[in-house]
Amino acid sequence: MGADVTVRGAGIFGLAIGYACAVRGARVQVIDPVGIAAGASGGLVGALAPHVPENWNAKKAFQLESLLMADAFWAQIAALSGRDPGYARLGRVQPLADAGAVALARARGDTAQTLWQGRAEWRVVPVAKLAQETGWAVQSPTGLAVFDSLSARINPQPACAALAAAIAALGGQFFLGSQAAAARPKGVQVWATGAQGLMDMSAMARAHGAPRSIGAGVKGQALSLAYNACSAPQLFIDGLHVVPQANGTTAIGSTTERDYTSPTTTDAALDELLGRVRVAMPQLAQSAVLARWAGLRPRSQSRAPMLGALPADLGGGVGHYVANGGFKIGFGMAPKVAEVMADLVLEGRDTIPVGFRVSDNF
Ligand SMILES: Cc1cc2nc3c(=O)[nH]c(=O)nc-3n(C[C@H](O)[C@H](O)[C@H](O)COP(=O)(O)OP(=O)(O)OC[C@H]3O[C@@H](n4cnc5c(N)ncnc54)[C@H](O)[C@@H]3O)c2cc1C
Repeated sequence: MGADVTVRGAGIFGLAIGYACAVRGARVQVIDPVGIAAGASGGLVGALAPHVPENWNAKKAFQLESLLMADAFWAQIAALSGRDPGYARLGRVQPLADAGAVALARARGDTAQTLWQGRAEWRVVPVAKLAQETGWAVQSPTGLAVFDSLSARINPQPACAALAAAIAALGGQFFLGSQAAAARPKGVQVWATGAQGLMDMSAMARAHGAPRSIGAGVKGQALSLAYNACSAPQLFIDGLHVVPQANGTTAIGSTTERDYTSPTTTDAALDELLGRVRVAMPQLAQSAVLARWAGLRPRSQSRAPMLGALPADLGGGVGHYVANGGFKIGFGMAPKVAEVMADLVLEGRDTIPVGFRVSDNF
């Protein structure tokens, strides 16, 4: 008989962990008082993009492993659920503004060969060639851009729906919305409660005398355009993510707002972002806006994922675990987060990297 695992929170972290546990034979139940992808995971963007290949550290290595796991992870989800998560590894283009940026990009191409273990490349290419190959008419003062073949895209909401369906196909149960209150926790409990969870835990920590919060929500706004480039790579231009989705839309993200009054409403900051992308990519200037969205990214104090045992003074105790702090790359980190959390809660194997623990946030 498999172990019982109760996951609290049906965002990308909770669902990926629930799935990884169910695959290993655990009886999984997922509880969320709102619903599937009700928090940050219900957004529009879904860029699975690497950190730059330099100044290597545990976080970058963990993220690389997760990105390299994504092909197989999402293919299994699609097969089990019969649903399309919108995943494709089509790479990413970043225009290079000046000679310094070109030199740096070439140097990073060399380090990528080693750090990315020959499994993905980072190369400098003429934008004219990219335009022929991808259809993207990227503007670049140097005529050059970086292309990396590691970046992929996912469609956040369909991806979460596919994960939930895969858990259900493996026998998992869901207690969502008004049903959540009636759920009886069984076995170990994994708290994957996103920004709200970080704020709740911070309040508890302060009540126990902690000098600062252990994390918070950072608001982000994004939008979706009626532009079909579904077989083209994503772009990263002037801090903007341009992410073509499998469904024929193109997502644009995102704002970063530490101070906000309403976490889930869009405003002039998103209009400003739209204006910027239309200047940076005239190809998108006439595309209609299909959707506007805002939500809270869960950001731990350390900015790294926060994984592991959840102590009693933060609302946990024996048999309680936490998986939070996905911040800006929660979808990219999810396959590896799910693996290490399943290792820990089912097998007692602790493979969580240094810097990713609850105690790193005090
Ligand atoms: C604008 C924007 C753009 C982004 N772009 C990208 C991107 O391109 N690539 C990328 O990888 N990441 C991106 N992210 C980040 C990513 O969305 C997050 O890191 C990720 O969704 C966090 O997932 P989560 O499961 O931890 O939290 P959430 O998705 O917020 O899920 C938490 C869930 O917990 C539930 N919950 C809360 N309290 C309780 C409780 N007490 N009991 C049970 N359930 C509870 C909530 O209802 C919610 O459903 C972006 C985020 C934003 C806001």
